[in-house]
Amino acid sequence: MLSNWYIELQRVTLLALASTFIGYLFGFPVAGLLFGLTSYIIWTIRQMSRLESWLQHQELDKLPLSEGLWGKLFDSIYRQEKAHQAAKKRLQTIIDRIQQSTSALQDGVIMVESDGTLEWWNRSTEALLGFRTPVDGGQHITNLIRDPDFVEYFEYGDYTTPLTLNSPINQGVALEMTVTPFGNDERLITARDITHIEHLERMRKDFVANVSHELKTPLTVLIGYLETLIDYTDESDTRWLRIYHQMQSQAIRMQDLVHDLLILTRLETTEINTQEQPVNIKQLLEHVTAEARSYSNGEHELRVSSVDIEITGNYDELRSAVGNLVFNAVKYTPSGGRIDVTGYRDKTSIRIDIIDNGPGIDQKHIPHLTERFYRVDASRKSDTGGTGLGLAITKHIIMRHNGQLLIESRVGYGSKFSCEFPLSLLNSSLPDPLN
Ligand code: ADP
Repeated sequence: MLSNWYIELQRVTLLALASTFIGYLFGFPVAGLLFGLTSYIIWTIRQMSRLESWLQHQELDKLPLSEGLWGKLFDSIYRQEKAHQAAKKRLQTIIDRIQQSTSALQDGVIMVESDGTLEWWNRSTEALLGFRTPVDGGQHITNLIRDPDFVEYFEYGDYTTPLTLNSPINQGVALEMTVTPFGNDERLITARDITHIEHLERMRKDFVANVSHELKTPLTVLIGYLETLIDYTDESDTRWLRIYHQMQSQAIRMQDLVHDLLILTRLETTEINTQEQPVNIKQLLEHVTAEARSYSNGEHELRVSSVDIEITGNYDELRSAVGNLVFNAVKYTPSGGRIDVTGYRDKTSIRIDIIDNGPGIDQKHIPHLTERFYRVDASRKSDTGGTGLGLAITKHIIMRHNGQLLIESRVGYGSKFSCEFPLSLLNSSLPDPLN
C-alpha cells in the first residue's frame, strides 16, 4: 500500500505538471507552475486554519471535510477525539458514582490537599463537623477543626491509630478521626460518630466500678466473720477448719480482684496529676525491693541498683506499677532464683528493668500479657493467688506517665520487664548522671 505522503507527493506533482502544461498552452509555463504551487499552498493554509478553528470550538460533529492527506488527518483526529470523549465520559460516570456513594455515607469523608486545604467533603461532614458547602472550600482544615489534639495529630501524627475528639459543633458527639495519606501527599480523612460506642464503654466502666464498690463492704464483713469463726473453732475440728480456710482464701481472692478492678477504673477515669511531684527512682526501687524481700522470705536472691535520679510522676502509682513487676518476678521464679532490679538513664530514656531467671514466658503469650485477666497458665491461679490484672494496671500507669512497658522473655531462661519513660520526665534538681 502506498504511504500517504507518497500519494500527496503524486498529487502535488500532478498539479505542478498540469498547471505548467496549461501555462505552456498560454505561453507562460513558469507562471502556470507558480500559479499551481501557490494555489496548493493557499489550499494547505486553508486546511490548517479549518483544523485549527475546529479544534478551537471542539464541536465534534462539525468535522470539516477534506481531501487526501488532510482528510485522513481530520479523520484520525476525529476518531481520537471521539475515543477521548468516551473515556472522559466513562471516568466522569465513575467519579460521579464514587461521589454519590461517599455522599450517602454516614461517616464524614474529607479530601485534603498536600498543604492541608480542603478539596472536597461529603454531606455527612457538614452535619458532623459543621463544614459549609461551598464556603469552606480552600480553607485550611485546622481552621475548621481547631482542637489542639487534632492539630497535632494532623500535622505530626502517627496515622496508624485513630484519634477520638468531640465534634467542634456539638461537644456531646464523639468522633473517631482517621487520616489516610494518598496520591501526591494528599490526605483522606474520615470522621465516624462513635458517641454510641463511647456511651456503652462508659456504661461498662461504670457498671464494673459500681459492682466492685458494692462488693467491697460485704466482702470485708464476710472476711471478718470468717476470721472470727476460725478463731472460735476448736483446733481438733480439722474438717470445719479446712472449709473455713478455703472460704477465707477465696473471699480474700475476691477482695483482691475488687481492689484491682477499682484501681483500674480509677486509672481509666481520672487524669493523672503529676504536677510538682518528684519521684526518686533509687528510693522507689529500694522500698519496693525491701517489700519483695520480705515476701520472698529469703528464697530468692534480690539485687537492686539504681542511679540517683528523680522523675516527675505520681509516687503511689509508680510504686504500684514497679511493685507488681517485682512481686511477679518473686511469685513466678522458683526458690533459689535471682532477680535484678535496675534503674538507669540512657541517651533516649529513663528505664527500670526487672530481670529474673525464672521459667520464662512463651512468645505467643507476650502480646496478651497486659490484657485483663490474661494468665499464661490458668492452673497456676491457685498457686500464686494473682488476679490477672496486675500487668494491665502496670501498663496503664506507665502509659499515664507517657512511657511504655517492654517485655522480653525466653522459656527456660527468664524474663525481663522494662518500664521506659521519656527524658522529658527527668527532674533537673538532681545532677544528671549522663552529663
Ligand atoms: P497475675 O495476677 O496472674 O500475676 P499479671 O497480670 O500480673 O497477673 O500477670 C499475667 C501473667 O503473666 C501471669 O499470670 C503470669 O503467667 C505471667 N507472668 C508475669 N510476670 C511473670 C514473670 N516474671 N515470669 C513468668 N511469668 C510471668
